Amino acid sequence: MPAERKLPGPAYLYDTGGFSMEGYCGFFLLPGEDELAIVDTGPSVTVDRVFDAIEEQGFSPEDVTDILPTHIHLDHAGATWRLLEECPNARAHIHENGIAFLTDPELVGKLMTSVEAAVGSERFPQYGTLQPIDVDRTRSIAGGETVAFGGRELELVDAPGHAPHQYNVFDLEASVLYVGDAAGIRCEGRPLLMTTPPPAFDLEAWRDTLDELEALEPDHVALTHFNVVDGAHLATFRGDLEAWVDRIRELRAEGHPFDETVQRLMKEYDAGLEVYDEATFRHEVRMNTRGVWDWLDEQG
Ligand SMILES: [Zn+2]
Repeated sequence: MPAERKLPGPAYLYDTGGFSMEGYCGFFLLPGEDELAIVDTGPSVTVDRVFDAIEEQGFSPEDVTDILPTHIHLDHAGATWRLLEECPNARAHIHENGIAFLTDPELVGKLMTSVEAAVGSERFPQYGTLQPIDVDRTRSIAGGETVAFGGRELELVDAPGHAPHQYNVFDLEASVLYVGDAAGIRCEGRPLLMTTPPPAFDLEAWRDTLDELEALEPDHVALTHFNVVDGAHLATFRGDLEAWVDRIRELRAEGHPFDETVQRLMKEYDAGLEVYDEATFRHEVRMNTRGVWDWLDEQG
């Protein structure tokens, strides 16, 4: 399975093929000089795509040095434990707010329970399984750290808003910002979709994050779902995010209950049907409405 896109760095975007869709959920392979980094891992069920990509680039699992899941959602971090098993020289950089959910057996169980509750038992198998990882093979990230890479440095930037356990990876020299879910879903040739799920969507935090990300002035924004776009995407996304939250706020103010709000939003944002089948689209709109809805409840 060849890389979908080559990025400056160089780096390569690969498709996990996860969630029964091609061109939806990716991971990035960054070959350095003596380093090989992986940004986002996909879920554990598609980890063979990562091993294939490593081989295709002429490396072996022993060469992997750094695993950089941008946040602990399983489409980004779910294969971290499998990669650590097979890549003896790798360490995983995980946000300090999420690290216990990947290392503490009890919290790993809780994470899986909450994923199943959020996505429903029908979709749950697509998220794979999770085994606790050895904390000694992790590095806790608060934002502000760097990763030595290819004779230069990757900068890790705290990026809450979508989730409090998210960081972004900035390759300053190549001017590529790996955003995880901090700038929506923008699959090739398809409409921009939101990434505002429960339980921890936070618009205020997200605004600050976008301020910081825009200040980096990246030439390229690398989206795990699933594209490489130019830096102007950050401003476009910001506008769409504000409009999405405003629309939900408005429908609530008009007295529409949650289910009715979801129905209306599905009609208004039906461009999402170009990306998903109807059941998946309904699930996405419901989940992304729920995140905003709960946040608005908290705002009072
Ligand atoms: Zn996410």
